[in-house]
Amino acid sequence: MKMTLPKSGLPRSELRAKWEGYRANDIDWRRGRAPLYVFYAGEDVLDVAKEAYTAFMSENGLAPRAFPSLKRMEDEVIEMTLSLLNAKEGSEGNMTSGGSESIFLAAKSARDWAREERPVSRPTIVVPDTAHPAFYKAAHYLGLQVKRIPVGADFRADTDAMAAAVDADTIMLVGSAPAFPHGVIDPIEPLSDLALRRNLWLHVDACVGGFAAPFVRRLGYPIPQFDFSVLGVCSISADLHKYGFTAKGASTILFRDGDLQKYQPFVSTGWAKGKYQTPNLCGTRPGGAIAAAWAVMTYLGEEGYLGIQDRIMKLRDRYIRGIEAIEGFGVYGAPHLGIVSFGSATVDAHAVADILAERGWYPSLLAEPKGIHLMLNLAHEPVVDEYLSDLRAAAERARHADEPNETGAREIMY
Ligand SMILES: *Cc1c(COP(=O)(O)O)cnc(C)c1O
Repeated sequence: MKMTLPKSGLPRSELRAKWEGYRANDIDWRRGRAPLYVFYAGEDVLDVAKEAYTAFMSENGLAPRAFPSLKRMEDEVIEMTLSLLNAKEGSEGNMTSGGSESIFLAAKSARDWAREERPVSRPTIVVPDTAHPAFYKAAHYLGLQVKRIPVGADFRADTDAMAAAVDADTIMLVGSAPAFPHGVIDPIEPLSDLALRRNLWLHVDACVGGFAAPFVRRLGYPIPQFDFSVLGVCSISADLHKYGFTAKGASTILFRDGDLQKYQPFVSTGWAKGKYQTPNLCGTRPGGAIAAAWAVMTYLGEEGYLGIQDRIMKLRDRYIRGIEAIEGFGVYGAPHLGIVSFGSATVDAHAVADILAERGWYPSLLAEPKGIHLMLNLAHEPVVDEYLSDLRAAAERARHADEPNETGAREIMY
């Protein structure tokens, strides 16, 4: 029997008990069991986001004239983000619902730019094979072809191979800062040279790194150039709801200048209700997500973000030391931020993840090479030693298992 709407509603006192019950099998991210999906930067940050979210929960970002408050907050979020990413005068952007929407808007803008600037018969984007699936989704929706180019041994984009793949139909290049699977930043400067030489749109996907890398660099870690300081970069996606630590439903799409941004909006005329214009895919836009982003950024400020990234990077180095101390285990590539993937040539890393899952650690698997993926936040700080000791034990158990725990490929759910 399918659920139907209850005849009489539940009293509020019972609602909470019910939803808490529904939650019983959710991954326990507060105890650091979630290696992805949730970004935690402390109770105070969560409280700021919650308060601002609920204060603007009913308001609608679709209507800047009705809610100039939201327009002002969005503009300020975008200006702060553009300055973090070294944009120059004339740069533009919008908040979106998430990284996938930001990437969609970049691809749509590139497609419409190419239609005007350099029309081709089969518009194609050239991406490193570590680029996020959102590019394939966008291409699918937009009627674009994708050429997927294997990355180098360091898991960074192979810019020579990408150059060789560019042909008359290519309109767009993609680099990630960093790519999600191995946490390494692609060489954006050579991609920029290629884009400028061949008149291509270069998008940098800084969805996961956009609000981390600028601070990690200021802390003194080596971060290659990836933002608008690189001349050929046309657009950047950067997610607020990841390392911006804001409420979910918040990302940014940013353009070097208005001549590129003008391909982003959609305008419809002739509707009975009149002209309808949106910058994004969404119609109705949650005011809460805009307000929470503004509030968290303004609450944390540069010092707040620096402090958090300092802790995350120190935490990351503890994980790396612990992982590399296990016989036969190593980190893949040289990760630039608090995203680490690792595996072993002698032990089946996915069997290790299964054993860790028995102990409540949610598995986040890497397909290529076979491995385990960790994206760190402050919820991991209290549990790093516990994780590493469970990892050591799991590695030993998997190493000495009579039979391989699992043979053949398995489907990996993101
Ligand atoms: C998370 C992520 C995306 C997609 O963002 P969503 O907010 O999940 O839609 C795109 N690219 C990278 C590198 C990401 O980490």
